[in-house]
Amino acid sequence: MKGYNGKILEVDLTSKIFRELIIKEELYRKYLGGTGLAAKILFDNYDFKKKISPLSAENLLIFMTGPLTATRLPGCATRFSVCSISPLTGIWGEASCGGRFGIQLKKAGFDGIVIKGVSDSPVFIKIVDGNVEIKDASRLWNKDTYEVYDILRKEEGVATSLSIGIAGENKVLFANIANEPGNYAGRCGLGAVMGSKNLKAIGVKGTKSIEFADSKKIDKLRKNIIEKQRENIIVQTLKEFGTDGGLPVLMMLGDVPIKNWNLGVWDEGSEELSGMNMSETILINKKACFGCSISCKRAVKVNEGKYKIEKGPGPEYETCASFGTLCYIDDLKAVTKINELCNRYGMDTISCGGTIAFAIECAEAGILKNTNGLKLSFGDADAILKLVEMIAKRDKGIGNLLADGSKKASKKIGKESEKFLVEVKGLEVPMHDPRAFHGLGLEYAISNRGACHVNSYQMFVL
Ligand code: SF4
Repeated sequence: MKGYNGKILEVDLTSKIFRELIIKEELYRKYLGGTGLAAKILFDNYDFKKKISPLSAENLLIFMTGPLTATRLPGCATRFSVCSISPLTGIWGEASCGGRFGIQLKKAGFDGIVIKGVSDSPVFIKIVDGNVEIKDASRLWNKDTYEVYDILRKEEGVATSLSIGIAGENKVLFANIANEPGNYAGRCGLGAVMGSKNLKAIGVKGTKSIEFADSKKIDKLRKNIIEKQRENIIVQTLKEFGTDGGLPVLMMLGDVPIKNWNLGVWDEGSEELSGMNMSETILINKKACFGCSISCKRAVKVNEGKYKIEKGPGPEYETCASFGTLCYIDDLKAVTKINELCNRYGMDTISCGGTIAFAIECAEAGILKNTNGLKLSFGDADAILKLVEMIAKRDKGIGNLLADGSKKASKKIGKESEKFLVEVKGLEVPMHDPRAFHGLGLEYAISNRGACHVNSYQMFVL
């Protein structure tokens, strides 16, 4: 079958034994896409009588490419899925990721990786053109995701890597998995699953070319998509101002949650946190993923002041909303700094911002008192920065409490704190308000991983 290698890599971290699993063509066809095949593998290996704990050796962590990975189709070429039982929700967990990992994995000869077991010490997996090694990762432990990415490229010669930050090591239940800086398998806390297996990173390099059934057709389709994109106003906004370019219009439509979903309009915040302001103040350049001509990604730099950062990935819309509008921070540079901290520590900005906004509302209502001396209030960027660090490190008290996500924290806080919760199945709701687009309410309610805005596209269904 073209477009695939026909095999995946299985690594047992307990025994340190790995093997190639040959996948029959009918399975690729029946369970279409990386997530489909991952669901089949997880289902076949799940002990329904025992109910597997997400952070135990029995849980599988699956990385899977799809039929379009490594084509040059815009928006699809780089995507791959990470799937497991989520420690945040206790049910099916999946996260989609961009970056070059999926392409390199396919070029290295594997369509996916299934991780099982637990290593007795920190390790990383190195895959170069079909050769697999499980290596000691003690020098990488405690390092942030940007550092690990640089080290593996320089010292191990891999083309790209996936890694967890200290949040994943500490099993923060919304820890993410990082590909290149700016590309994350963000949702469902799958970084905590990776951390529970003592797996710090996977480095990969592949040089094989992937053959497709009809490359000419793919080229034609690519051309058509790019032509259509030229006429599309949303695509042009993405190109010019990034995903955050939509914030002012979305706010006018009532889509942007403000102050833990209590407000729908905030003029000052809309202007300050917009992609337009980002372009005028901190933007260094625009970036595109492989195969895509949109260039919605931003590289930014904050030159001075307490929120100074070196050139790196800028915050996307979801982060400008989850920490900007939701936590009521009227300062793009502060949000950019928080974004960098979350990236380096390896935490999903949607769940982290949502959990912090929930905690602030509890604190302001007087039902969350033990905050380790931190005065929590909406708009206090410095306190929120500190709290992000405390969560990633699982600092005793408030850090540890919030590291389990808003739903579990609410159960511990009690005192009717659940009235400030905004989650579905334990997954914090992304930054689009179903009161603006009613279709989103249905999407959040029935998505299999919990509140999900990418399972189907209900954004403009009123
Ligand atoms: S540049 Fe933006 S639109 Fe294009 S594939 Fe990457 S994330 Fe998607």
